[in-house]
Amino acid sequence: MTEDHIAEVKSLEALIGGSFPTNLSKLSSSSRTIPTNRDFHSLYKSDEFKRPIDEIARISQSVLETIGGKKSMTFPGDDDAHEWLGKVNDEILEKFDGSIDEFKRNRKMEEDSKKAIDVKVAESDKRFEKHGKAKAPFHLPTITKPQEEYKILVDNANKPFDHVLLEKSEDSLRFIHPLEKLSVMDFVDKNLSEIIPVKPLPLEETPFKIVEEVKDLEDLAATLQSVEEFAVDLEHNQYRSFQGLTCLMQISTRTEDYIVDTFKLWDHIGPHLRELFKDPKKKKVMHGADHDIIWLQRDFGIYVCNLFDTGQASRVLKLERKSLEFLLKHYCGVTADKQYQNADWRIRPLPDVMTRYAREDTHYLLYIYDVMRLDLHTMAKEDEQSDSPLVQAYKCSYDVCMQLYEKELLTGDSYLHTYGVRSGNLNAVQLSIVAGLCEWRDRIARADDESTGYVLPNKTLFDIAKDMPITTAQLRRLLKSKHPYIERNFDAVISVIRRSMQNAAAFEPVVQSLKDWRPETVVEKNIEPKIEKTGTEASSSSLSLKKFSVDDSKKQSSSGFGNLPSKRKFESDKKVKEEVKVSKSKPNEVIIVVDDDDDDDDESYEQSSETADALNRVSETPSKGSLSMTQKPKISNKEIIVLDDDDESENDSESREEEEMRRRSEKHRRFMNMKRGFLNI
Ligand code: AMP
Ligand code: ZN
Ligand code: MN
Repeated sequence: MTEDHIAEVKSLEALIGGSFPTNLSKLSSSSRTIPTNRDFHSLYKSDEFKRPIDEIARISQSVLETIGGKKSMTFPGDDDAHEWLGKVNDEILEKFDGSIDEFKRNRKMEEDSKKAIDVKVAESDKRFEKHGKAKAPFHLPTITKPQEEYKILVDNANKPFDHVLLEKSEDSLRFIHPLEKLSVMDFVDKNLSEIIPVKPLPLEETPFKIVEEVKDLEDLAATLQSVEEFAVDLEHNQYRSFQGLTCLMQISTRTEDYIVDTFKLWDHIGPHLRELFKDPKKKKVMHGADHDIIWLQRDFGIYVCNLFDTGQASRVLKLERKSLEFLLKHYCGVTADKQYQNADWRIRPLPDVMTRYAREDTHYLLYIYDVMRLDLHTMAKEDEQSDSPLVQAYKCSYDVCMQLYEKELLTGDSYLHTYGVRSGNLNAVQLSIVAGLCEWRDRIARADDESTGYVLPNKTLFDIAKDMPITTAQLRRLLKSKHPYIERNFDAVISVIRRSMQNAAAFEPVVQSLKDWRPETVVEKNIEPKIEKTGTEASSSSLSLKKFSVDDSKKQSSSGFGNLPSKRKFESDKKVKEEVKVSKSKPNEVIIVVDDDDDDDDESYEQSSETADALNRVSETPSKGSLSMTQKPKISNKEIIVLDDDDESENDSESREEEEMRRRSEKHRRFMNMKRGFLNI
């Protein structure tokens, strides 16, 4: 071989070395490296030349198959070989161009959908200006789920949440919160006479940082290390994940505002901020922190010590309202625009209006804390024996922190918590279907990390149970709006219905007990349905009514939602709690205890006059059930959901939103019952 030929061989060998993408780009320029037609034939006779050429042919072929699906292609080892190779390379280039075009198209589609979101937000801004009320979209279906985009791992298994970072009690039955080892009295401010509240600078003049890189988070942690107190708030999404997902963490010091992009920094937040939140010497100021406290535990393993909750303080101070909106107006003269409270906080990049809203939630809190602690300090004690108002506020804040996150678990009686089940007047077959569908949607929601309300809204669930469709055609006719999950699982849903219908007898006693139920103490017998196991899907066979608490309300019936205005809320001036208890001495007797009380609402949120109006309308549509007249929902103002009801597609999600609202209220009620335990009220 001549030197030229050796060089050719070398360049060809270099060409085939490297990985697939490298090969692809090398191949695409290989037309130039392949010797010309005449040389090619003579060279191809030599083994050293033939080997790399055959290898090129092989790679070309596999590249083509990969990108173009070209199946049967063999390298012609004869006179056509040169031409063939040239053609193949051209084809690769063409396909490559095609792929690039497709990539560009996809990118454009992505950008367009982002733009559409911006437009939607901008539109809602305009509506706000025009009508004096706006609707920030509660759900933006175009958003890629952050769990997928940012690889956020969640454990939705039907097992209790493990507080891995906490010590356990000696009998290992209980987790020990770090606060248990601390005394609330250590948190109570001293030397209050020296405090002079200083108003924060206006938002525009305050340094602000979006924390989205690990380096920024390190800087933030260093800043927080150097301060004595900081204000915190979280934004959250509960519609497109099973347990809920923290979307943002806002932090304000005396001089700066920060918004931490929790999605981008998910795994880093705990390690960088955990100690600061736990540090008993550092004051954390939050407003109505009940939810935030447990979200911090669930998502970041953060346990808060030394909290001043301005919501709790306003309760002790007996302020006329307890919402942050009110405190901002009252103490800072700031009119907050709360329309974004229930927006889809998964949106990225965060629109300016939402950034502003999020900042406002913490920007003024340290100042409000200053004024409130002075007010609490000067407020008279209720009587000699009671704690001072300042101590009371700290004790309540302590109790808020002591709550521990508990994962929602599916048990045999979970379906009885489904909103409306008590006043639905369902027969045993229908109740059995409710139980079956609840179990089905729970399983799917956990697996896909969606809320149960997104998978199958309560309203649809009841519609199905009442109608009892047994063919997919019947089921299809029944569905009024789009239900992606049901549509993808028509057969599964039908088989759940059919199986449930066979199990219906087991629900007779439950129906009876629901009928007998009165808003007073009732003793019920044997209300545990016994269901035959049918393979793996028979977990409802574990049905037992060990203990549940149920709230119903006036406006259970879906028709009660009829034509409400877009802002909806459930509020109550009086609540009823029912609790079903198993008597120790007579395990088959179940007692429903009804508990009238009205002081455990989450009052840090409050209704606007508009929502009060909506509420009144809700109250005017009592359902006919025997329970409903005396009962009102125990749901805080936090349950307001702003709905967009302009067009068909939005009406689709409307029932899901209603469902979501109910789900939140169910969760919230359980949560408040838990909280009441801590507060001893
Ligand atoms: P906030 O403490 O007001 O910043 O609220 C924190 C999160 O709670 C929000 O991001 C919402 O996900 C949720 N939230 C607050 N208020 C409501 C409401 N009225 N209805 C539904 N969700 C709410
Ligand atoms: Zn909050
Ligand atoms: Mn907030």
